[in-house]
Amino acid sequence: MSTLGLRGATVFDATGRDPVRADVWLTGSTIAEIGPGPGHRDAGEVLDLDGHTILPGFIDAHAHVGLLSFSAQSAWSDAEQAGYIFRNLREALDQGFTTLRDLGGIDGGVVKAAAAGLIEAPRVLPSGQILSQIGGHGDMRPRFSDDPENPSLGCGGLARNHALCTGADQVRAAVRTQLRRGATQIKMFVTGGVLSEGDPLDKPQFTVEEIHAANFEAESFGSYVTVHAHSREGILRALEAGVRSFEHGSMVDDEVVAALARHGATVVPTLAVDEVLGSDPAAWGVPAHLVEDIEELRQAQQRSVELLHAARVPLGSGADLIGITQRTRGREIYLKAKLIGLPDAIESATRVNAELLRISDRVGTIEAGKTADLVIYEGDAAVDAEIIGTTRPKFVVQGGRIIRR
Ligand SMILES: [Zn+2]
Repeated sequence: MSTLGLRGATVFDATGRDPVRADVWLTGSTIAEIGPGPGHRDAGEVLDLDGHTILPGFIDAHAHVGLLSFSAQSAWSDAEQAGYIFRNLREALDQGFTTLRDLGGIDGGVVKAAAAGLIEAPRVLPSGQILSQIGGHGDMRPRFSDDPENPSLGCGGLARNHALCTGADQVRAAVRTQLRRGATQIKMFVTGGVLSEGDPLDKPQFTVEEIHAANFEAESFGSYVTVHAHSREGILRALEAGVRSFEHGSMVDDEVVAALARHGATVVPTLAVDEVLGSDPAAWGVPAHLVEDIEELRQAQQRSVELLHAARVPLGSGADLIGITQRTRGREIYLKAKLIGLPDAIESATRVNAELLRISDRVGTIEAGKTADLVIYEGDAAVDAEIIGTTRPKFVVQGGRIIRR
């Protein structure tokens, strides 16, 4: 079995321990040993990494590699869309993201393409179609259209538009369909969103009964539901329905934070997308009247992160990037670091995300026996947030194999 030695770097293992200078030895796809290591060891390849930092491979818990445009995706052929999706995946890997939980768009077809070795991709956990109520955040029909279906977006086996459902039975059918197509978790909109028309951010969507139906079906399959939820009532309904995984959580108050903490819920704030949309709204097709809303949301989200962190609600990490140039995934860690400090921001994108995604037996920390997914930066990336925020890793190791150098 091949052996790879990584010598002399600072290791941030994301277990909560302080960074240490150590050698990391990989055997095949696994981390074999961390420590000084015998100097005479005959590793197949040894990298001298003095002055570098080794981190666990990053995990983005809120990706949309298959949502390529707010409005114009159907203008592309399925083949072009596949090309953009595969490029987004390769790009994520180059940025050090060795795992993506995709929260809406792609299904298990993309995972099969990666498993067959046809594309270079991170480990992908797809959700398939996001469940939306009629008139909800995922109702993408022209507002006065009589068409019962959302406009098509790609095709089955690649990327599909949100599933509109009404009532517990339709919700059950939609959940079962996504699971059959390889979804590893179910995504549901339970509050309004910014970039959709006519569904206010602060209003709930779906009933407790509908959310419960989704949660029941997902759990029956050994899976779970995560909900897009910006505001109070939607979060409280989802908690009542048994949901424990929350996206955005951008407008929480003390009472909602206490409820999330009491139920052992995890929240994935999404800071990078606000920065991306706010920095060049026109390029992203954001209507002028929404620019102010995005700035307000950005500020509310920052306050919410601080409240949640103070209450020790576990915070996952998700960039929520969409589009065909998803080049700033690491910004999420950088922006989070400004609010909760860099070590917690890195752990959020590694160990906490792995626990949330139920894959912490394999990834998320640097420990013997785990899969060798690693990111290696030049410089002190566990101290200087600019390094992750503005540069690319020097090496990315996926399953023991150096895929970027
Ligand atoms: Zn999203």
